[in-house]
Amino acid sequence: MENDEHFMNLAILLARKGGGNVNPNPQVGAIIVNDGQIIGQGYHEKYGEAHAEINAFKSCIESPEGSTIYVTLEPCAHQGKQPPCFEAIIKNKVKRVVIGSLDPNPLVAGKGIEAMKKAGIDVSLKVLEKECKDLNKIFFITSLKEPPTS
Ligand SMILES: [Zn+2]
Repeated sequence: MENDEHFMNLAILLARKGGGNVNPNPQVGAIIVNDGQIIGQGYHEKYGEAHAEINAFKSCIESPEGSTIYVTLEPCAHQGKQPPCFEAIIKNKVKRVVIGSLDPNPLVAGKGIEAMKKAGIDVSLKVLEKECKDLNKIFFITSLKEPPTS
């Protein structure tokens, strides 16, 4: 769908706002769309704080039930500092998930996608994949320069 690239592009612009504050996490942006209208948006703002998807749900101006979420990176599936984002996506009854790039971390890769598909969510992969991967490339470079201290 041609609109997919449009909304993914907006999610990428949001992701970049995280800048170096999310180090050593990747920059991630999320946009929630219902009937062609953006009803929520969020990005990963700071390491250790809420992920992009959670911030997007929090910002919703109407119920996200039946909506589409665009996220630059595959929603996380492991219990880290935050509960896994794929659970929030299922809980919020999103109808469709559009993912830019897959997580290079083997703890994450594919697991959330499988769970969301099982829950009946339509999952589309690799929309603007190169641009979304580039967000992670910036993260890898900066994290090499400044190794995490905690
Ligand atoms: Zn997450």
